[in-house]
Amino acid sequence: MADVDTNMLVAMSLARAGVDRMFGVVGIPVTSLANRAVALGIRFIAFHNEQSAGYAASAYGYLTGRPGILLTVSGPGCVHGLAGLSNAAVNTWPLVMISGSCDQKDFGRGDFQELDQIEAVKPFSKFSAKATDISKVPACVFEVLDWAAAGRPGGCYLDLPSDVLHQTVSESEAERLIAEAQDSRNKGLIERPIVKESEIEKAVALLRQAERPLIVFGKGAAMARAESALKTMVERTGIPFLPTPMGKGLLPDNHDLAATAARSLAIGKCDVALVIGARLNWLLHFGEPPKWSKDVKFILVDISKDEIELRKPWLGLVGDATKVVETINKEIKDDPFCLGKNHPWIEALSKKTKENVSKMEAQLAKDVVPFNFMTPMRIIRDAILELGSPAPILVSEGANTMDIGRSVLVQTEPRTRLDAGTWGTMGVGLGYCIAAAVASPERLVVAVEGDSGFGFSAMEVETLVRYQLPVVVIVFNNGGVYGGDRRNPEEITGPYKDDPAPTSFVPGAAYHVLIEAFGGKGYLVGTPDELKSALAESFSARKPAVINVTIDPYAGAESGRLQHKN
Ligand code: ADP
Ligand code: MG
Repeated sequence: MADVDTNMLVAMSLARAGVDRMFGVVGIPVTSLANRAVALGIRFIAFHNEQSAGYAASAYGYLTGRPGILLTVSGPGCVHGLAGLSNAAVNTWPLVMISGSCDQKDFGRGDFQELDQIEAVKPFSKFSAKATDISKVPACVFEVLDWAAAGRPGGCYLDLPSDVLHQTVSESEAERLIAEAQDSRNKGLIERPIVKESEIEKAVALLRQAERPLIVFGKGAAMARAESALKTMVERTGIPFLPTPMGKGLLPDNHDLAATAARSLAIGKCDVALVIGARLNWLLHFGEPPKWSKDVKFILVDISKDEIELRKPWLGLVGDATKVVETINKEIKDDPFCLGKNHPWIEALSKKTKENVSKMEAQLAKDVVPFNFMTPMRIIRDAILELGSPAPILVSEGANTMDIGRSVLVQTEPRTRLDAGTWGTMGVGLGYCIAAAVASPERLVVAVEGDSGFGFSAMEVETLVRYQLPVVVIVFNNGGVYGGDRRNPEEITGPYKDDPAPTSFVPGAAYHVLIEAFGGKGYLVGTPDELKSALAESFSARKPAVINVTIDPYAGAESGRLQHKN
């Protein structure tokens, strides 16, 4: 019988744990790990940069609910991978980063790509393990996978020293090690807390008494796949709902009870807010005045006890979003709420919604050329809606492009929106596109990106072409960060005053040509007809494409919410 080396044993353990996809960059000392994984039926998506691969692995974790796997080389590979690891931590998405590291006996003597990687990952990982010997490999693999998915999901790290990667055991010993590690998996880790009946009754009683109740849900509810429980809850109670940006689509944006277009009124006036899988952080104005009423009573549903302790809501329910909402539904079953269309709260929200929607539609209806943000966004919205079900997964990043896209583009299905997330991370675009295409092969992926956001990971268009992924990347090209040079004339002084502004890129950059270098399809568009035809052609081709949309460099501005910080 052939011997099994650590590269093989890692691949075997991953496969045994049900891992079916990996993202990463190969090189010393992990190349054969990737090859072995492929040979065992795991799809390995090879990137140009660990940063994009890491973002991909994090989004894959979010979309599937199972840890996304990121493979990196040692030292700098690990450092680049921290982008993905930290993104997973901040978004509470399950991810496992696996990195090779230098030879244990040469550590501290300046070995090739030497770094104390266990120390480097500390701020960003829930749990990390170093396999110091081949006999520990299967147990370490299962442990990091279990920790990443347990409780509040997050990033975990596995360190594989290069000397260990070359150790071998017999095939039967490898099987024995895997079986032993599987038997000793900590089942308690995966168990989820159960909410007490009395707490559920309290929540329902409060919701019943409320005059202006609101349900808010976020990407934690999306990860919990709470859509059908939420649908039942909204139907039984008639309570209006507000999704966070990535909660969009759990219930369709065009639902009668969607309060998105009346967001300020909804959060400003609600008296009881049931918040499910969404943190009361900056994205929800910390749950504080002036955006929220000072008397609002929060009922928070979160898998994380720490989160509840941090926010100190009126009532905290620690548990899985789907389980908790199902239990609430059971509790209200025999006695449904009936807020109804004529209830003053519902009337106020729907009146506001109608007003805001008609204002926005009036803006959108105009064909402005050279393009502002609104005109092309409307055309893209309509082209996406025309596709029907399964809806494409939308990837969005940028300043204006993401903000305007969030209000204009319509999400009708769960987990079909990936954006800059909790950290507002720019550079996630192509990694997210690739993860979405790999996680949901039945769906088209459409990215709507600012030119600056696109640039962070643009080289990965080659990866799209190499794997022939059905991804259409639409670049809103306004010549820079926020677009062009926006300095006042008196600011433009000093010895480097003739340099381009820090916000500027080459005007008219031919991003569509970039993908053509690898055999993909590129389009340059500047009018409604050109855009419509590029969308129609690329959506039906389902092949990698970049649509370079020329936008007026002076259209739009920084997001209202963040302007004071710049
Ligand atoms: P959003 O950005 O959409 O507001 P956040 O990332 O701020 O969402 O919040 C997501 C929350 O969901 C986190 O606090 C996380 O602990 C929680 N969460 C993750 N998984 C679950 C789950 N299965 N059930 C309930 N809450 C969850
Ligand atoms: Mg721009």
